Amino acid sequence: MEPTEILQEVANQVSACKLCQLSFSRKKAVPGEGPASAEIMLIGEGPGFYENEQGRPFVGAAGNFLNELLQKAGVGRKDVFITNVVKCRPPGNRDPMPEELSACNAYLERQIEAIDPLVIVTLGRYSMSKFLPNVRISEVHGQPAWVRGRLVIPMFHPAAALHQPSLKTSVERDFARLPEWIAQARSSGRQAAARQTVEVPGPDQAQTEGTKPAPMLTMQAPAMLFDLDDLTLKPPVDEEDPSAPTQKGNPTQLSLF
Ligand code: URA
Ligand code: SF4
Repeated sequence: MEPTEILQEVANQVSACKLCQLSFSRKKAVPGEGPASAEIMLIGEGPGFYENEQGRPFVGAAGNFLNELLQKAGVGRKDVFITNVVKCRPPGNRDPMPEELSACNAYLERQIEAIDPLVIVTLGRYSMSKFLPNVRISEVHGQPAWVRGRLVIPMFHPAAALHQPSLKTSVERDFARLPEWIAQARSSGRQAAARQTVEVPGPDQAQTEGTKPAPMLTMQAPAMLFDLDDLTLKPPVDEEDPSAPTQKGNPTQLSLF
């Protein structure tokens, strides 16, 4: 099946979906929108009031702010695919519940697989934790990480930023760097990145003697790492080749840069 057909099929299934309780209170399901060939995918939390009315993502106040952020970054909204981790509005805009997130996850997975984006921008902590579990958004926002061959960029949610001046400044600053990260992702080459699998322990799961080994996140190493201090490209660690540059110390440096 062509990517466009897969997206259409997902949209049809979402519109009729009854897999979780959000189906009872929704007016219109919001599958997401954008070209199947999008290089960049934006993933929010869930539809709000206006999205539920119109069946389209990010059309309310948060959407207007998101449009502004994208425009300032020189990224066309029509060129990106925008969706959410849950496709139906949680009543009163409450947080999505774990069972709703897991019921809806397969639709998002199929969308990602069909679009095969190079860059995924997560908006808010629910979409972030799908790709980067066990991290805090306040600590990793604006720090891209390679996850399964895609550059995942965690950002604060535009709706939260609208109401909190400090978050607004952060999200504006992070979005301003989007063009730079997209360019870096393009030039670092996803093929090379996808070949190199490394295991990275979650940041808050440092192993101590006598405790159970921490579960590992499986991530892909980038072809090259960007050093934030001097803005240069550095080769990643090669575990097989001791003569290769080593990067002892914080293992999360392998993916969070
Ligand atoms: N907030 C979201 O997370 N998604 C939308 O589609 C709109 C607002
Ligand atoms: Fe189905 Fe997702 Fe809507 Fe729940 S939120 S009813 S799983 S489409």
